[in-house]
Amino acid sequence: MSIDNIMQQAALAFDRYKQVEPVQRAAFLETIAGEINVRREQLVATAGRETNLPDARLNGEINRTTFQLQLFAQLIREGSWVEAVIDRQRETPARADIRRMLLPVGPVVVFGASNFPFAFSTAGGDTVSALAAGATVVVKAHPAHGATSLLMFEAISTAIIKSDMPEHTVQHVTGGNEAGRELVMHPSTTAVGFTGSLAGGKALSAYASQRETPIPVFAEMGSVNPVVFYPEALETRATQLAETFAASVTLGAGQFCTNPGLLLGLEGEAFNRFQTLLHAAIEKTAPQKMLHTGIRHAFLQGRDGMLAQQEVTLIGALPETATAEDAPVAPSLAATTGSAFLANPHLREEVFGPYALLVACRDKTELLQVLKTVKGQLTSSIMATDTDLSNWPDVIALQTTLAGRVILNAAPTGVEVCAAMVHGGPFPATTDARYTSVGTAAIRRWVRPVCFQGFPDQLLPDELKNNNPRGIWRLTDNEFTR
Ligand code: NAP
Repeated sequence: MSIDNIMQQAALAFDRYKQVEPVQRAAFLETIAGEINVRREQLVATAGRETNLPDARLNGEINRTTFQLQLFAQLIREGSWVEAVIDRQRETPARADIRRMLLPVGPVVVFGASNFPFAFSTAGGDTVSALAAGATVVVKAHPAHGATSLLMFEAISTAIIKSDMPEHTVQHVTGGNEAGRELVMHPSTTAVGFTGSLAGGKALSAYASQRETPIPVFAEMGSVNPVVFYPEALETRATQLAETFAASVTLGAGQFCTNPGLLLGLEGEAFNRFQTLLHAAIEKTAPQKMLHTGIRHAFLQGRDGMLAQQEVTLIGALPETATAEDAPVAPSLAATTGSAFLANPHLREEVFGPYALLVACRDKTELLQVLKTVKGQLTSSIMATDTDLSNWPDVIALQTTLAGRVILNAAPTGVEVCAAMVHGGPFPATTDARYTSVGTAAIRRWVRPVCFQGFPDQLLPDELKNNNPRGIWRLTDNEFTR
């Protein structure tokens, strides 16, 4: 079927799906979770073959995916997420009756991520938050796990039938770059969700801006996730920090957008000791297979490109890499100085995989300069004691301007799915720092505010009616009420 037909179907389905009651939409999301669980074994086996990820990780990711579905079901059942605002008519000063709420934008195109075959792919966060909002979804399957994606789509399709949702509420598309371009360019597409490379995210954004009617592309494109190791923290708990960060750098063969790729501290004995401990801990990690040969190739090229830079030194020996296209890769660690980092913009780039660069800065001023040159980030972490925190408040202030999530005394890998989460950040981490792609606030990407002025009660959506039939929290004449 052509992309044009698929998008037309998505638009027709939207006309019906947007009218489905929130309780039914919530039940639909829970039914998808049930259908995923029914297929769990097959999903894990298929994804294991396609992505090289171990069963334990894949099972954990299925739990995350079904939890996400349940959390969005809860959100829309409760209902206050629509941000209903009511300003009632007044005689003095004269004011019309004006009411506002969030409504779905229309059909959404989702590009599945390669590094999360479940939680950020076909039935992942983008799809689920869009369905919760009342948008229909067309998923562009990631080519690296096509069979997994199809199996997941089968689970969604069964849930559509069982829940009596409109046909084509979710559709599944395969194909290369051209199919992706056509999906973004199609006039019925109203927004795009993407997780992947900077080049991919920028290409999709460029297509969207070339349309007669431009649309938003919410692209999450990764980051180097700087971590600042404050002096007293390094003095007092270097061993524990080394263990924590060795695990974080090598987790999932480093294929996480929150992988800590840039480790900063002040030059001297404490930072040197930490470097030695970190390297010793990382060396113990067995080589791991990467998601697909393209990512493996990009990793080796990126890592070797970094190691070829002036004043970048490899710590230890370069791990031997077998020539087979899908052979496992071992993690590696490099080091440089603050001044070399400042002089060479290449060092700010992300190497997607098990690699991190330690940067020893001359003093706090240089460390601040290094942080200022780092581009927009998903996370920025602080490893510090109470004394460190009171001595270095300016560093913390800078870190909050850099990233969507600022973390105190924990590694950045591990992104909780919850209401307060921000998985986003200034460009190039994402294309729009005002939004998150993880957690319930991710729903805000697929809605727009609509204002109803002068409407009689019976013509208003339930969320805005006088007697508040949904019992949701609303801002009524500037006061929150239920
Ligand atoms: P990718 O190359 O960005 O591809 C992701 C999806 O976008 C695929 O479906 C791909 O389609 C599509 N796409 C990419 N460029 C496109 C274009 N110009 N026009 C239309 N569609 C396009 O990501 P990947 O294959 O997952 O991994 C490659 C690199 O991305 C990694 O080495 C890593 O650096 C980065 N990455 C980042 C994250 C993150 O968390 N931000 C996650 C995974 C990967 P087709 O391939 O089917 O044409």
